[in-house]
Amino acid sequence: MTIISNSLQVIQTNILQAKNRVNRQDNVKLLAVSKTQGAERLREAYRAGQTVFGENYVQEAIVKQNLLGDCNIEWHFIGPIQSNKTQLIAQHFTWVQSVDRLKIAQRLSKARDITLPPLNICIQINSSNEASKSGIQSQELIDLATEITKLPNLKLRGLMAIPAPTSDVAKQRQQFKVVREAFMLLQQNGFDIDTLSIGMSDDYVAAIEEGATIVRIGSAIFGARTPVKNDE
Ligand SMILES: *Cc1c(COP(=O)(O)O)cnc(C)c1O
Repeated sequence: MTIISNSLQVIQTNILQAKNRVNRQDNVKLLAVSKTQGAERLREAYRAGQTVFGENYVQEAIVKQNLLGDCNIEWHFIGPIQSNKTQLIAQHFTWVQSVDRLKIAQRLSKARDITLPPLNICIQINSSNEASKSGIQSQELIDLATEITKLPNLKLRGLMAIPAPTSDVAKQRQQFKVVREAFMLLQQNGFDIDTLSIGMSDDYVAAIEEGATIVRIGSAIFGARTPVKNDE
């Protein structure tokens, strides 16, 4: 057994235990965040059964997608999006979790090949400013969700957030709660969404207890990242 497959197994066990603690029967998707990792390391995770991967840089991702063309992988884009990258992102991913403004959503919809299924979209919200309800502008969020829902080649799936790192579990949960409440607000307003993407290597257990349906985990699978300069 390799280190990567062992880590994946430990994480899957932790996910199951966290779900059990809060009596959840629904699915929690493990997204392996593979930025800065070479294609061979992704292949190793794939061989261990991991099929969902998240990337932050378009060019880097495309190189790996080509090297792993024989694998049946679901690719999520989770990095900041510049307008001039929307074309490539719409072509090379099935999910984009980091949509934070309408202009980007419009460009993604326009660039999405109509013969492909709609691009799955999460709105990225900021939950770390203040750990309170006012941290998220509810009306702004509803307006953005409304406009995204009108775009033909996108499917709004839910929310993504990257809370401020803290080792205080109560604080972790408080930040996740803010995001879950925004998610529920959208559902109450009639949006057909099912995805709450919160939780990373250091806080995914708290995130699952707070309702995460996707956890995005990098270093706990692949080990610490060596910082790279990325000039995209
Ligand atoms: C890098 C990254 C992660 C994973 O972070 P780890 O702490 O290594 O698990 C998750 N989400 C996003 C958006 C990231 O950029």
